[in-house]
Amino acid sequence: MFNAPISRRKFLAGIASTTTSGYLSPLLTATPLSQGSREKPYSMDLSRSKHATLRTVPLDAVTINGGFWGERVTASRQAAIPEIYAQEVENGRIFNFQRLKGADHSTISSDLPSLRAGADSEIYKWLEAVGWSLTSANPALQAQARQITQDVIGAQESTGYVDTYWIGDRVAKRMLPETQISGHEVYCMGHLIQAGIAMYRTSGDRTLLDTGLRFIDAYILAGFGPEADKKPLISGHPGPEMALVELYRETSDPKYLNLAEYLLHGDSRLPIRPDQAVYNFAGVPFTGRTVMEGHAVRATYACGGAADYAIETGDPAYMKALDVLWQDMAERQMYVTGAVGARIKGEAFGGDYELNDQGSYCESCANIGVVLWAQRMLALTGEARFADVMERALYNGVNSGMALDGLSFNYRNPLLYIPGIDPKVRRPFWHTNCCPPNLAHVFASLQGFFYSTSKDGVHVHLYNDSEFNWKLEGGTPLRITQNTSYPWKGVVDLTFGPGASTEFTLFLRIPHWSATSTATVNGAAVELTKPGEYLAICRTWSAGDKVRLTFDMNPRLIVAKQQVEATRRRVAVQRGPLIYCMEAIDQPSALSLDQFALKIDADTAKSLSVRSHPELLGGTVTISAPGVLYSGKNADPGDSLYSTMASEAQAPQPVTLQLIP
Ligand SMILES: [Zn+2]
Repeated sequence: MFNAPISRRKFLAGIASTTTSGYLSPLLTATPLSQGSREKPYSMDLSRSKHATLRTVPLDAVTINGGFWGERVTASRQAAIPEIYAQEVENGRIFNFQRLKGADHSTISSDLPSLRAGADSEIYKWLEAVGWSLTSANPALQAQARQITQDVIGAQESTGYVDTYWIGDRVAKRMLPETQISGHEVYCMGHLIQAGIAMYRTSGDRTLLDTGLRFIDAYILAGFGPEADKKPLISGHPGPEMALVELYRETSDPKYLNLAEYLLHGDSRLPIRPDQAVYNFAGVPFTGRTVMEGHAVRATYACGGAADYAIETGDPAYMKALDVLWQDMAERQMYVTGAVGARIKGEAFGGDYELNDQGSYCESCANIGVVLWAQRMLALTGEARFADVMERALYNGVNSGMALDGLSFNYRNPLLYIPGIDPKVRRPFWHTNCCPPNLAHVFASLQGFFYSTSKDGVHVHLYNDSEFNWKLEGGTPLRITQNTSYPWKGVVDLTFGPGASTEFTLFLRIPHWSATSTATVNGAAVELTKPGEYLAICRTWSAGDKVRLTFDMNPRLIVAKQQVEATRRRVAVQRGPLIYCMEAIDQPSALSLDQFALKIDADTAKSLSVRSHPELLGGTVTISAPGVLYSGKNADPGDSLYSTMASEAQAPQPVTLQLIP
């Protein structure tokens, strides 16, 4: 059910089923869950992880107070979450569950248009977004989530199996090897687990998590695994690995960690074709991989799961593979926006330095995969290079996925978009609606990316008006208030709140893009570290201490390595963490965008000027840049494709271009 295309500017501006059961045998013994996580809702609980260099802080320990991210989080909570729910209802995804309640799944019709393999994950991602957003009380939303949870339970069979697509004449194909590879059953289970964990940790309600546990314990682990008397299992779409490691963190039961490793390793009893091993990024040992390839969401999610496994085990083979794969992505396959997936065909990574702009896929989910993987690599190593990519992808490749008003979404996030040629951007709903609820889940848990603790102190990764109210690993309570207009302005003030005077190290990320930065403690200058590292300030901190950071906010021209064919003789404009964009609507006359170009010479960078626009797009900063307009022969769309070059007809006219974030 597709809606009319939405312009980029508009995009920027703007059933209760009570109970079920009787049908299900209850869990004989409820799986013990961590009481601590319920009291302190971590989106990723590293509080007991043996090989985490940095530890996450609970979501309710950080409050985002407005500013750039506050507006995005609010738009997601107030507009995107209700809109996604309405679209999922309208497109039958919730009805898919409701109609199975009490029915014999083998006889019920399997040809509803709303049925799609993997579509259940849209509901689970929405429930996860709701779960994390319940760190702020919202009884109406919680009641809605409870109702949908009952719909999911109503669709769960007594075996523990739940999937609304593999019903009717498809029942016989459930969990067959070829179905595992492409059928999304295990993938959906992973998102069910993540949603259940979110709901449990913020509301204390374990109902949804028990539904996922029943699927894993009674169905998956009972029938599938490496043992000779069980059938082999493959992760056709990675994602469940991250969920299983988080479930291990929640329950302390190693069987879930082992299941994650088994999926990452693959099972030779279930041979898959070489092209499937590439596309699915599964089925062969993860530790043997050296290249980011295949479906970009699958690949980045597999890496996130492998990083989670490494955080728990310290397995050197995993650490080595992760480092090689990260370098392959960050050095050869990532866009300047932190997005990945150069090819539309297969929604896939390309070859080395294959980074086309117009044809790029850059799915929002893949860019989220980059952020989740980066967050885990940062926790594993403590290295700022991962936080730099996390920031780049959050501000650009992920943030671009949701409209300013939270009511429409990008599936693709190409760097060049020509209306009429490719209409596949900006819609309230997608036939495969994976990205919108996934974006909502990131915004709902965004505060979890801001800070970490370590044995030495506190790390600040992201800057925005916010309050950190948590404790050092030794147990000393600590409060830090951030005041800033970042990313519009480069000054960040941090103030320490009341608490005992304590010696520890404050680690402040100096972004790689800030060529010249300064830092002061209570007005006294501090010697800076290099860009792209953490500035470590070790001292006795007391209430009222103030730190001021000042970053270099001069607009910069970014060029890619010469090997990137698609961007030779081209530049990107970046200011702070934001990559800027040129739109036809902002240029001197309503001409086609391909008639304009930035004038590039030695003085261009110096002549970029910055202007604040409180009235534009909810308040933004634009950049004016020297440009040229090509209006002669070959510039008009009506001209012939090829003709002899006529130098006088090509003379460009100077113009001033306006760029927006
Ligand atoms: Zn997606």
